[in-house]
Amino acid sequence: MLNKLNLRIANVYIVKGEKKTVVIDTGQPGQAQKIITRLAQLGVAPKDVSLILLTHAHIDHAGSAVDLQKLTGAPLAVHAADSEMLQRGTNGAMKPIGFEARLLYNFINVPFPKSKADLFIDENTDLSAYGIRGKILHTPGHTAGSVSLLLEEGSAIAGDLLRGGALGGAVLWHIPRYPYYLYDVADKRIIRASVRKLLEAGAQKFYVGHGGPMSRTSVEAWLMRVEAQA
Ligand SMILES: [Zn+2]
Ligand SMILES: [Zn+2]
Repeated sequence: MLNKLNLRIANVYIVKGEKKTVVIDTGQPGQAQKIITRLAQLGVAPKDVSLILLTHAHIDHAGSAVDLQKLTGAPLAVHAADSEMLQRGTNGAMKPIGFEARLLYNFINVPFPKSKADLFIDENTDLSAYGIRGKILHTPGHTAGSVSLLLEEGSAIAGDLLRGGALGGAVLWHIPRYPYYLYDVADKRIIRASVRKLLEAGAQKFYVGHGGPMSRTSVEAWLMRVEAQA
């Protein structure tokens, strides 16, 4: 069962398995207690959280990771390529795409509480040990270590691989767009390849950090359009 929390300033997702629960992303600093409250509403005690999984290590996704780690005792997981950002509490390189992204840059490019991953995740990580049915796909482009969680039922939790709409998803939230930022050595081709990878793996619905969710059809249409323009 997938639950979405609209936290500041990014969405957090809770995947409740039969016995265990996985939290995906943690919001900006100061959001951990809100996640605990929502877990309680879902009947999940902090000790029943089996894993805190970060789609990537930016401030608005990893900002409350260390607090949530303390409150739940759950292991914190990130892809190795983003682990240094987590350890340093910095966003790493961010190349803005467009005006809105340049405007936001100074607001989000600030230090955040450091945390240390307990495990590195990649495509070989077996999630059944954490009580959920799905797999990890490495989907770089926004950061080098961005991952998506593809649940067996077809939901893809894709972090900031794409964003829905504008103004943090406040408008046109169902319309796919490129993320605001790419890591410095990346280009848009890497984003498109990662989106295609998720589609080929069978993703039916895209749950993202800002805005969304977006249907497979709308993501396919977006990909066709941007590839034609490229
Ligand atoms: Zn991000
Ligand atoms: Zn984000």
